Amino acid sequence: MNVKQIKAFGTEAADLDLKQLEIKRREVTSKDIEIDILYCGVCHSDLHFARNDWGFSVYPVVPGHEIVGKVVKVGEGVTKHKVGDVVAVGCLVDSCRTCKNCKNDLEQYCPAWVGTYGGHDKHLDLPTFGGYSETIVVDEHFVLKVPKNLDLAGVAPVLCAGITTWSPLRHWKVGKGSKVAVVGLGGLGHMAIKLADALGADVTLFSRSPNKTQNALDLGADRVVISTNEEQMASVQGHFDVIIDTVPYIHDINPYVGTLSTNGTLVLVGYLGPLEPMLHTVPMIMGRKSVAGSLIGGIAETQELLEFCGKHGIVSDIEIIKIQDINQAYARMLKSDVHYRFVIDMASLKT
Ligand code: NAP
Ligand code: ZN
Ligand code: ZN
Repeated sequence: MNVKQIKAFGTEAADLDLKQLEIKRREVTSKDIEIDILYCGVCHSDLHFARNDWGFSVYPVVPGHEIVGKVVKVGEGVTKHKVGDVVAVGCLVDSCRTCKNCKNDLEQYCPAWVGTYGGHDKHLDLPTFGGYSETIVVDEHFVLKVPKNLDLAGVAPVLCAGITTWSPLRHWKVGKGSKVAVVGLGGLGHMAIKLADALGADVTLFSRSPNKTQNALDLGADRVVISTNEEQMASVQGHFDVIIDTVPYIHDINPYVGTLSTNGTLVLVGYLGPLEPMLHTVPMIMGRKSVAGSLIGGIAETQELLEFCGKHGIVSDIEIIKIQDINQAYARMLKSDVHYRFVIDMASLKT
């Protein structure tokens, strides 16, 4: 297999800053597409993975799974995209294609799914490296079309922050009149508000940060409930059909379960790990309520979301940074000081 050395930004250990590295990419095989990366969004998962928060990072780590770029080369068997097309890659770059989940367009639940970074590139027998890099080579099945009317930097976060909130909104059939709440106003949270609002739902934000109230209303929320304010929490007891919880760290979800209506579902997408304090069953039993989880979305569903964003003119609210500013961006993300997604202008890696 022919390989190329390219420039990337990543880290060699959990306690080191990200810096410029050289990585190997395969040359295109028959079904592959080579993409020159224009923009890459910065997800809180990038930070978790760089710092080994989940305990399974493989170094070096090159994060980035909200990728928008231009096709520069295609394999001879490629039919979906051509050189010059603007395309996108999200969190998945491979899966088995034969299991029940793959056949049902749920590649994200395939036991053999390959993440855009930290997965295993079977062609090179190396970890996969993400979008904080000059180029990426991906099988055409996992490469998405970008609607022509959308801003290319703003659309990048749709590939993770967007699809991670869209998939549960669709699965739990959110539509006109649904009562939806979002916990945490960061990258995922702000996309959840925009998408639930565009689906016709009545949207509430739960936040710890009163200073984000006006922003949330401008993004499409109908109200904001400050989660530390008992009176405000009491005012929404039994209210929501669906809650999307995007908080990245351990937190008490019991107060939110109390705000679900009968048959309501709280969907965890942020925190990965055991809950503490424990989940109390009484509010769940006394109202047939559910606590669920959800992982990104499949390829067809991500394409559906991109078309929806094109139709409704939805992109992320972003702050563009240079790759050299990534460590400061991570420090700000840890302080919940992101409005509401950092996107890296990858031209900065070429300078
Ligand atoms: P983010 O931009 O940093 O936003 C997280 C928000 O959660 C913050 O802005 C803050 O909102 C709130 N928050 C942060 N720390 C908190 C704490 N200790 N207690 C309570 N609230 C807190 O992060 P993101 O990129 O949206 O990602 C959110 C989480 O989703 C991360 O853990 C990420 O790894 C995960 N994720 C999961 C999937 C999936 O498929 N399931 C996909 C992508 C990302 P307020 O200031 O409003 O409180
Ligand atoms: Zn992500
Ligand atoms: Zn599969």
